[in-house]
Amino acid sequence: MQVRRQLLRPAVRLRRSRSVATGVSERLWLFDLDNTLHDTSHAIFPKIDHGMTMAVAEALNVDVDTANRVRSLYWKRYGATMIGMVRHHGVDAHEFLHRSHDFDVGPLVRAEKALAHKLRQLPGRKVLLTNAPLHYARAVLARLGILRQFDSLWAIEHMRLHGEFRPKPSPALLRYVLAREGVPAHRAVLVEDTLANLRGARQAGLRTVHVYHPGTPFSRGRTQRPSYVDLRVNSVSDLLLRRRPLRG
Ligand SMILES: [Mg+2]
Repeated sequence: MQVRRQLLRPAVRLRRSRSVATGVSERLWLFDLDNTLHDTSHAIFPKIDHGMTMAVAEALNVDVDTANRVRSLYWKRYGATMIGMVRHHGVDAHEFLHRSHDFDVGPLVRAEKALAHKLRQLPGRKVLLTNAPLHYARAVLARLGILRQFDSLWAIEHMRLHGEFRPKPSPALLRYVLAREGVPAHRAVLVEDTLANLRGARQAGLRTVHVYHPGTPFSRGRTQRPSYVDLRVNSVSDLLLRRRPLRG
């Protein structure tokens, strides 16, 4: 673990963990961002799609069709286009992430109302865990008025193990995040719209909440709850009302 600590960049810590201070392990809520805390499919995913294609086209000096093929290949293989671009083309990760997410999220963010109030009702600490870049995640949380609800932010930039990017659904990443947050897996819950990430979380021993969003790939037609999902909800409000199976 000591070696991993040296190789992984620390997440952005917004507040000191109370469990570190008291020695008592609180419930830890790990929240995904896109299509979990806000409706990204509504207007933001098309912007990211366009920005990502243009970032690939410019970095490789190829046309849009070729850039789209490359994007699709790396996204499927590595879970994030940026990882393939760094590994195979030596692009700078920070530059690429800024170019691909270079737009004002303000007018595009759509989410359920009173999110800050709802998150405060959930007992325990909250941490953001997103495969998106940090500057984008911060901007969305600020726009939603919920940045202060999170103790720390884990974005794609922080997900490096042994020099390699390991985003969700890597169980090794999840175990590392829990070690850094000082919480045992059985006290942690991943709240997330992507089923593959929930499967990875279960492999690491976490409890899991599937936030159903019709715009998330592979979520359509999934009426049954997979065995690795403890609870299936439609929103944070729904989670507040139905979290009883997660108690204990
Ligand atoms: Mg998501």
